[in-house]
Amino acid sequence: MQNSIRGRLIATVVLSQTLLAAGLLFAGVYYTHRRLLMTLDAGMQARAMSVAALVRYTEDASGNVYFDNTLMPQSLDPSHPDLFAVWTQRSGLLTRSGNWPSGLEIPPTGARYWDFAWHDIPYRALRATQLPVLDREEGKSFQPQTLTIVYASPMVRMEEQVREAGIFIALASFGLLVATVLLALWGIGRGLRPLQQLAGQAALVSADNWQLRVPKHAEQMEELRPLTQSMTTMLARLERSFIQQREFMGNAAHELKTPVAVLKSTLQSLLQRPRTSEEYQAGLEHSLEDLERLEQLLQWMLRLARAEQWAHGALRRDLQVIDLNTTCEEAVERIRNLAEVRHTQIHLSTNGPVPLRADPEDLQLVWTNLLENAIRYSPEDAAVEVAVGRTGDGRARVVVEDHGPGIAAADLPHVFERFYRGDPSRTRATGGFGLGLAIAKALVEAYGGSITADRTPGQGTQMTVELPARDR
Ligand code: ATP
Ligand code: MG
Repeated sequence: MQNSIRGRLIATVVLSQTLLAAGLLFAGVYYTHRRLLMTLDAGMQARAMSVAALVRYTEDASGNVYFDNTLMPQSLDPSHPDLFAVWTQRSGLLTRSGNWPSGLEIPPTGARYWDFAWHDIPYRALRATQLPVLDREEGKSFQPQTLTIVYASPMVRMEEQVREAGIFIALASFGLLVATVLLALWGIGRGLRPLQQLAGQAALVSADNWQLRVPKHAEQMEELRPLTQSMTTMLARLERSFIQQREFMGNAAHELKTPVAVLKSTLQSLLQRPRTSEEYQAGLEHSLEDLERLEQLLQWMLRLARAEQWAHGALRRDLQVIDLNTTCEEAVERIRNLAEVRHTQIHLSTNGPVPLRADPEDLQLVWTNLLENAIRYSPEDAAVEVAVGRTGDGRARVVVEDHGPGIAAADLPHVFERFYRGDPSRTRATGGFGLGLAIAKALVEAYGGSITADRTPGQGTQMTVELPARDR
């Protein structure tokens, strides 16, 4: 029950309907009781007046009265006859109804309406005072008398009626409750069907079939729309990273295969026939170069894997605050050899310290990757500019700009992909792996930053990195 939507909804329906029924029962019984009591009171009032009308003056002029019981009023409930007593102002108790129980004493003064019980029979009583004697003998001059009448009706019949009304309301409410629960069960079952259909479709998704066919009903359901939308985007993202992983594996295997094959063939040809020691020397040196390249590739791949791991929430928290300018200066220092070989001038410009929390090794790696590309993919003697500063909203910004041919338009959307290399004729000579920018991007994103590439055809490339910085 606790763990089922259907169970909870039904419980809510039953609870609210039971509350409603209880409220209705209470209100109905209360209202019926009040109405019947008012009717009873009005009836007693009328009968008390009829009793008063039976009090008459005697024929003489004494002003005495007598009770004429020949015209007694009918009881309100024939099976439980009413009681009454009449007092006159002058001579006290005048008469009592024949069925007045012996031992029951009711004084002529007190409240107008009240309830009492006599031998387990509940009564409602009315006390009417100051009633005039209605019989008026013309021409007789004496002081007119006033009467007090107590009139009591058993409430047995009324209580029965109230009980009957209560039972009727309770039965009707119970019937309605059963009908509502059945209706709710049916409605909830129907309402949850799109969810079941969606679950059925979701179960069909696998590594071979990433397509989630959202059933029409589920698509139209307002409450399910966020779920289906996030499922669709989640699957798209999963599919993309799944494909990327697969490509990465393929690319990595391919990249590793070439140097291993070269190494193998070098060693095989060395072993084919006896060689001079110079030939062995040259062959081993060649092999060592291939091994170095292999080692470097493995290092890059490890670095990339680590950066991507950080990007998924595992970034170290114990980072020191460092100055962005220092990391740029050290990167320029590291790349100096390559720059000298290619006669490239690197201009570093800055306007003040930019503190931020990062591992300086990571940032230097990003800058050396960008500088290496800027130098490699520009003609010799060209200049490279590095500008360190802040964006309008206070983020740290580094722009590396070269004056080479610029990244080809077709390459621009792909340069950050792993193992992606631009125009092979241009890049073959440089012998890169196509991992430099992928690593830079993974690192920058691991720090919550962004990296973008812009090109001005014929005038060069601008790589812009933005990172979250501290104020001071
Ligand atoms: P690696 O960096 O792994 O040694 P790589 O330099 O080929 O190899 P990336 O640094 O990822 O790989 O660059 C991807 C591609 O983007 C390059 O092959 C090149 O075609 C293009 N590219 C990158 N930077 C520039 C640039 N400054 N000017 C022109 N093309 C560039
Ligand atoms: Mg590179």
